[in-house]
Amino acid sequence: MYDFDYHKPTTVADAVALLAADPDAKAVSGGHTLIPALKHRLNKPTSLVDLSGIAEMRGIRREGNALIIGAFTRHAEVASSEVVQAAIPVLSFMAAHIGDNQVRNRGTIGGSVSNNDPAADYPAAVLGLGAIVHTSSRKIPADEFFLGMFTTALEPDELLVAIEFPIPEKAGYAKMKNPASRYVMAGALVSKGPAGVRVAINGAASCVFRQAEMEAALAANWSPEAVAGIQQPADDLNSDIHGSAEYRAHLVTVMAKRAVVNAG
Ligand SMILES: Cc1cc2nc3c(=O)[nH]c(=O)nc-3n(C[C@H](O)[C@H](O)[C@H](O)COP(=O)(O)OP(=O)(O)OC[C@H]3O[C@@H](n4cnc5c(N)ncnc54)[C@H](O)[C@@H]3O)c2cc1C
Repeated sequence: MYDFDYHKPTTVADAVALLAADPDAKAVSGGHTLIPALKHRLNKPTSLVDLSGIAEMRGIRREGNALIIGAFTRHAEVASSEVVQAAIPVLSFMAAHIGDNQVRNRGTIGGSVSNNDPAADYPAAVLGLGAIVHTSSRKIPADEFFLGMFTTALEPDELLVAIEFPIPEKAGYAKMKNPASRYVMAGALVSKGPAGVRVAINGAASCVFRQAEMEAALAANWSPEAVAGIQQPADDLNSDIHGSAEYRAHLVTVMAKRAVVNAG
């Protein structure tokens, strides 16, 4: 690790001011991605702005037909929350299948969504449920938030503060996980609700994306058979030691079918 300064603000405004004052400062949430990167000297921030002391970034609440989850909410809290289980059970299911106990007790939803790892779970929930990302300065619809591999619409001095999920009529998720890390090889989150019929695919490409052909098929006929014959082109999919692009293309269809079954 390189040397860095450490700050622990107690308000979003103070955290943003610290980030704005130093272009090489980085926010740290659960630290499960950032700290290993620092240990391997892959990142060299001059200061870390720890978000763990900011009360307004924590908590889970229902507001009308939406669920609001604070950015500093750990995966284990989402998995065990009765409020989440009652309103959007697929979110608890997803959180319960992220990594292992250590990861779920440290990693946060805000850190995961801000990081936008192609193989992460939560980006599929944000896009597949048509969520709205609340930041320190604006509200960003999911369709405009994820820009590419590890890239989002967040500015360097902008913090993800909370995520607003509209409560769907039904939603399901399925992933083929890497057996070592539980990161996603290919996954699908399907939903039907206020945001329409949506299918978000994660793990397969450089960034989470919507599968328009599957959305049209499910809008006409909500059943696993509706997506069974739809083949995702392999051209732009990831190919690595864990699986080829063709294998991932096959998984997209299988995971979409399973997600519809899981949605009921
Ligand atoms: C062994 C292992 C297995 C894992 N398996 C899975 C898995 O199966 N599925 C999965 O989805 N994930 C997995 N993860 C990732 C983990 O779940 C965390 O979600 C991830 O590390 C990011 O969350 P964090 O809170 O740790 O963020 P941090 O590491 O603290 O931050 C990550 C990045 O986001 C930025 N950031 C953090 N919070 C904010 C914010 N509020 N606003 C703006 N920027 C912010 C930071 O500056 C940093 O660039 C795994 C991690 C490990 C170590």
